[in-house]
Amino acid sequence: MCRIRSGKHKLTFLVIPEPERPVLQIRLSKRLLILLPLLTIGVLIYVYLSLHFTARRTEGQLQSKLTKQSRSFVETIRHKDEDIKRLQNEVKELSEKAEQVGRQVSRLQDLEAEINGFLGKDSTVDPNVTSGIGSEEPAAYSSMERSASGGLYYPQAAEDTGVSDTADAASEGYSTYSVQLGSLEQSLSDTLEEARRAKKELAVTPTFWPTRSIIVTSRFGYRSDPFTGRPSLHKGLDIAGDTGDPVYAAADGTVTLSDADGQHGQYLEVRHTGTLSTRYLHLSRRLAKTGDQVHKGELIGRLGSTGRSTGAHLHFEVVRRGKEVNPQKYLHSKGEDEAYVRQEED
Ligand SMILES: [Zn+2]
Repeated sequence: MCRIRSGKHKLTFLVIPEPERPVLQIRLSKRLLILLPLLTIGVLIYVYLSLHFTARRTEGQLQSKLTKQSRSFVETIRHKDEDIKRLQNEVKELSEKAEQVGRQVSRLQDLEAEINGFLGKDSTVDPNVTSGIGSEEPAAYSSMERSASGGLYYPQAAEDTGVSDTADAASEGYSTYSVQLGSLEQSLSDTLEEARRAKKELAVTPTFWPTRSIIVTSRFGYRSDPFTGRPSLHKGLDIAGDTGDPVYAAADGTVTLSDADGQHGQYLEVRHTGTLSTRYLHLSRRLAKTGDQVHKGELIGRLGSTGRSTGAHLHFEVVRRGKEVNPQKYLHSKGEDEAYVRQEED
């Protein structure tokens, strides 16, 4: 229970608790009683204002932080966009380069086929890996555009199909070409080996027309003998010419005979391989000695009419496994062996 006693300047509050407890007496001046609510209001206004300003300040700070973060995000996104665009361009460039490589591979394959044709040999390139048209065409390519001649498939543009598809296509393109190049490398190496072998073989095959003249007066085979008139086997090729005309080695080889007798006149024999030789008869002069190494097209003697001969001519023989064979099966037309430089007389 609370009672209030009023004096002149002071108010006394009596707080009367339960019967056995002492009475509590609070004396307050009247001025204080007027000031107390004012003070309370002042404190409340102060607290309100300071909370308000603190809230405003915090709000401002948060807002500025948000703005900064937002700007940073925008910047990051812009960088990412630029990166994506750059990557798209790079991938597109790679695709174009892959296409170029494809065309080069294709050209190399054509070239190789041509060389093989020249050597009379089938192409050794696996058809499944040529020109991107084999059965192993990557599935990812099926919906893509095929380039005009290179055989590469790659999407039209990075913007249309996405950088990932373009990159995949470029990557697969490179893988395909890598396989093709591997195969091509092997087959070119085989072709080179074949070409070397062919060159060696050609060097020792009597294809070089053995003198200046191309007038054939008697071919290989049966004819009536110019001396006896009886049928006999003519074992060589007679090429008419002027005495002193150059006589050339028909292929690389070693001179195995440089001799003269009443039958052959002055003559030379050149061995080209273990089984293949050539003979040059009725010469006016022999310029090569037994044991000389001679090259295809090299001047080895002079045309004449020595021995059993009716006029200036070269009797040319090709001997295979000890037996005379038709020289015209070996000889190229005059001038056909361009690789061999004919040693013309001065
Ligand atoms: Zn003859």
